[in-house]
Amino acid sequence: MTKFSDLKLDPKVLTAISEAGYETPTPIQAGAIPHALEGKDVLGIAQTGTGKTASFTLPMITLLAKGRARARMPRSLVLCPTRELAAQVAENFDIYAKHTKLTKALLIGGVSFGEQDKLIDRGVDVLIATPGRLLDHFERGKLLLTGVQIMVVDEADRMLDMGFIPDIERIFQLTPFTRQTLFFSATMAPEIERITNTFLHAPARIEVARQATTSETITQKLVQITPARRDQTAKAKRELLRALISAEGEACTNAIVFCNRKSDVDIVAKSLKTHGFNAAPIHGDLEQSQRMKTLDSFRDGSLQLLIASDVAARGLDIPAVSHVFNYDLPSHAEDYVHRIGRTGRAGRKGTAISLASPADEKYLSQIEALVKMEIPRAELPEGFSLSEAATRAPRPRDESEPRGGRSSRSRSSRGRDRTPKESSAPPAPMVPFEPVVAEAPAATPVREDRAERREDRREDRRERGGRNRDNGPAVVGMGDHVPDFILRSFRTTKPAEPTADEVEETSES
Ligand code: AMP
Repeated sequence: MTKFSDLKLDPKVLTAISEAGYETPTPIQAGAIPHALEGKDVLGIAQTGTGKTASFTLPMITLLAKGRARARMPRSLVLCPTRELAAQVAENFDIYAKHTKLTKALLIGGVSFGEQDKLIDRGVDVLIATPGRLLDHFERGKLLLTGVQIMVVDEADRMLDMGFIPDIERIFQLTPFTRQTLFFSATMAPEIERITNTFLHAPARIEVARQATTSETITQKLVQITPARRDQTAKAKRELLRALISAEGEACTNAIVFCNRKSDVDIVAKSLKTHGFNAAPIHGDLEQSQRMKTLDSFRDGSLQLLIASDVAARGLDIPAVSHVFNYDLPSHAEDYVHRIGRTGRAGRKGTAISLASPADEKYLSQIEALVKMEIPRAELPEGFSLSEAATRAPRPRDESEPRGGRSSRSRSSRGRDRTPKESSAPPAPMVPFEPVVAEAPAATPVREDRAERREDRREDRRERGGRNRDNGPAVVGMGDHVPDFILRSFRTTKPAEPTADEVEETSES
């Protein structure tokens, strides 16, 4: 087995990694580091949790040990899709480079340009950035990329999802042709293949663990729920989620709860808090300082439940998460693997519990096809039954109500299910997993999902300080009978607080 000492790393790096407690290189490290140290381009196909950050950081530090940074001309560049991931790479760099004199700057949205400019002016060895913020600095004439000797692209498939590929291509073109490129992606979509064919020169290709591999240390369960009416699903799922978390008892030391939509991240977090759980949301609409604070408290154990969107949680390295809950099954099957990979890391045991309603059936079959196994079905927690509020039939729409707007849009079925006095139907019982007749028209999940991804892209573009900003007025007044995504605001800069109707109150349960 390869040892770190076999890898020809700078002795100062070796000291730092032994202080970090690493004993042996992970497969991606053993595979990538020797090629990177020889100055070759590397194409690493690996997902988070495999030790890929060190697989590019350690050789970078070793290679940059000789030479000095010049003002405004960073010697290396690491591009990450999200602020959190960039901040995490910066933290890793600090650990591994602590015995060297190398300097770094972190260029991410939500942090003032002034401070970042000062660092760049002084000259940095390593620049860690999200693509949008990097280009903003470049366009402001504050940064030259002609001194970049090593360029790292981390989580390229995420960059693709988030619409960053044109930016990446542009940045490639701004760096010298002679640069060394270390390129990492969990999957190789055709577009990623095209980029690597264009910008990498005879790369060493190192592939670890197929994308569809779910760790054997993770116990997976699927709990199915079928409220009699589709518009009761959200409330029913929130109740079930609470019951599932409680049923795990002390075994659930900390957990990430994934939702597909940012609006649901807020609602689920608020709902859990209302019910006495120690929970906080993380998604792209929250202030950067808030996101960092939430992550820090999750890392130090003072926050038990992190409610997250895929984009916000992407690549987060949070050690020792005991549980992952999928409040929604992800619409992209690979996201299931990424999500549950937050637990059961580094040989530890983990539990991943997914909630599924009949609407998720299509996603479920795609996930099971990808992971090549049936996710074990689990019973509802003992003694669990839906509250009356969750089984109550929604109030028929009051024709005198104004149509459209936040409070009466179609997704406010959540709100309408809170008006018992106008409900003539008796509480609907829970029924086995079988099709239900949805009365309220809803956007197809796929279209909603696309709209959500577009929104995520917009939100990440907002990090660029104004480019591609959507300045149009919020779309309102189209009535109840239009798909959810059409009614979504185009210019939200802060998440709209969920209305009281969207978060069930303690009195309901
Ligand atoms: P990454 O895939 O880069 O997000 O790394 C996942 C986790 O593995 C991080 O917490 C690293 O600190 C840790 N790690 C990276 N390399 C090693 C190693 N060789 N031995 C033990 N832990 C490691």
